[in-house]
Amino acid sequence: MLEVDRIDTFYGQSQALFGMSLSVGAAEVVTLMGRNGMGKTTTVRSIMGLTRVRAGEIRFNGVRIDSLPSYRVAKLGLGLVPEGRQIFPNLTVTENMIATAANRSGRDDPWTLAKVLELFPSLAERRNNMGNQLSGGEQQMLAVARALMTNPHLLILDEATEGLAPIIRAEIWSCLSRLRQGGQSILVIDKNIREMTRIADRHYIIEKGSVVWTGTSAELVSADDIQLRYLGV
Ligand code: ATP
Repeated sequence: MLEVDRIDTFYGQSQALFGMSLSVGAAEVVTLMGRNGMGKTTTVRSIMGLTRVRAGEIRFNGVRIDSLPSYRVAKLGLGLVPEGRQIFPNLTVTENMIATAANRSGRDDPWTLAKVLELFPSLAERRNNMGNQLSGGEQQMLAVARALMTNPHLLILDEATEGLAPIIRAEIWSCLSRLRQGGQSILVIDKNIREMTRIADRHYIIEKGSVVWTGTSAELVSADDIQLRYLGV
């Protein structure tokens, strides 16, 4: 479904990605992990067309997307939950969700307001509250809910649980598990290895702009040396 093939990405003169590669298959949940500043967000920005790549290719369902503007990438069915939420503060929960609704993937059974609210009970309770009346965690859930309303082929979450209360993190992870059961493809950046090895199929570890390790959840669980060396656990 998604293939990132040896991309180089720069900020001005400074190179952030060095031949970065990863792939996500249909109905697969894949994580991208690594310490701060190693290039996770830059990888996501490159995929979404928010930062241009200078070399390499990115393909989505066989289509080259690395030179497309980000709105076209989104239209092809990539749904991003960016670091730092970005919901509409002066719209209600429901309005925020309707604002992004689209059936991009053309699925037979698209996400509706009711179905997404069922996934997030605490958001459902606050459906008539304004975005700016929500707690940080509720705003983050709303950001995920909004991305789902676009019916993405691939959902990408960048640090969606960072800094949230444990109960809210658990609700987001539980949502990811249910999405996985429903066959949703997901690329997730999240530092919680224990949860990620439960939820995801495969993992990539990035160090200084390229992949230094990749494997399944079972392989990562038993790779204490890798966890210590690259993730500092
Ligand atoms: P974090 O977990 O802290 O978000 P990350 O793994 O997502 O880290 P990136 O944000 O992708 O890392 O950063 C990769 C490298 O690119 C870092 O060295 C960072 O300083 C640099 N970088 C990121 N954004 C910019 C920018 N807008 N301008 C210049 N350099 C940047």
